[in-house]
Amino acid sequence: MSNLSLQQRAQRAIAECRHIAQMSEEPGRITRRFLTPPVRNVHAHLQQRMESLGMAVRRDAAGNLHGLWKPANACSKRLVLGSHIDTVPDAGAFDGILGVMLAMELVEISQELKLLLPFEVIAFSEEEGVRFGVPFIGSRAVAGRFDIALLAHKDSDGVTLADAIRDFGLEPGKIGDAALDADALGFLEIHIEQGPVLESEGLPVAAVTAIVGQSRLSVEFRGHANHSGTTPMHLRGDALAGVAEWISAVESLAQQTDGLIATVGKIEVEPNAANVIAGVARVSLDARHADDASRKSAVESLLAQAHAIATRRGLTMQTERQMDQSAVPMDERLTAILVAAIAAAALPVKQMPSGAGHDAMVMATRVPASMLFLRSPGSISHHPNESVLEEDVEAALNVGSKFLQRLAAEVG
Ligand SMILES: [Zn+2]
Repeated sequence: MSNLSLQQRAQRAIAECRHIAQMSEEPGRITRRFLTPPVRNVHAHLQQRMESLGMAVRRDAAGNLHGLWKPANACSKRLVLGSHIDTVPDAGAFDGILGVMLAMELVEISQELKLLLPFEVIAFSEEEGVRFGVPFIGSRAVAGRFDIALLAHKDSDGVTLADAIRDFGLEPGKIGDAALDADALGFLEIHIEQGPVLESEGLPVAAVTAIVGQSRLSVEFRGHANHSGTTPMHLRGDALAGVAEWISAVESLAQQTDGLIATVGKIEVEPNAANVIAGVARVSLDARHADDASRKSAVESLLAQAHAIATRRGLTMQTERQMDQSAVPMDERLTAILVAAIAAAALPVKQMPSGAGHDAMVMATRVPASMLFLRSPGSISHHPNESVLEEDVEAALNVGSKFLQRLAAEVG
């Protein structure tokens, strides 16, 4: 068999994603939730491809499909590559599955290059959290962080997670066996950016530095509801005007702080009437940063500003902290190899944090993890118009191939 060019491989990977997109719960739309019938078709398709590459295939009890490639005379340590095969409802054709198809191409490239590095490709069964309201079921199991209490969770039809696993022909009691052994030297996930950064900078790919940490709070300003016609401006306690001032302060701090993303996306006003001064205004704050200390100090500074605004306006203020999730840095050594691979592919080196969670975030709790982003045209994702550029897929394969060669040289 003659070797395919990277461009031909990119075309094949895209065609495979489009083919697998037809394996859906809903005709005409891409919807593939955890362990639903079309997942069997995806497994059968991937299994055939893995076996044709000489890989040993197995399914774990969380429904992840694993393909192992072990060259003769290889070292015992292996690299794990993969992403997820579930989707959101009415999804695009590339979120998750592209990372699996590129992993398959990379296995074949490593075979052609006769690299002595074993690989495990994992098609994670669940990442989006659609069916059971819990994300990362697949990678949690592989990372050895699956909480068995999850087995009692029910989907919208009242089917428990344990029954869904049983119905798929797997044994929920064996989920513990899905955990990676100590021979996994690292993890690489290739995924679309699902945001506008690479497109705005005209770049095909980037190495991910960290999955950002996140704080979520609600902030409530209380003043005095009163008649909008009879209450002079200097005798008001307008909660909504106070909140409005603070929203501008949030935007302004985020614009001035490198790496800080902050959003007020929700507002509730009481009594919410055109001719009544707002007595209560409640807003959300979602603040994210790849560096936890920067995120925490930004939140503290914003709360101090809220307090100052409230005091100056004669309002009272209350906050409720709802979530504090630490950032997950990607592994420094693997990311350095990835950056060197981007440079070796003669591409501009770009490093960026991920504002969204990914399987790599969960895998990082078990093995050194790294991630490569591809540009998302139009920044469209979780939508049927989600797409990729063939040249970017080719670039990702080029980077992936150089990453493997460098890693194999270091390990071997
Ligand atoms: Zn995804």
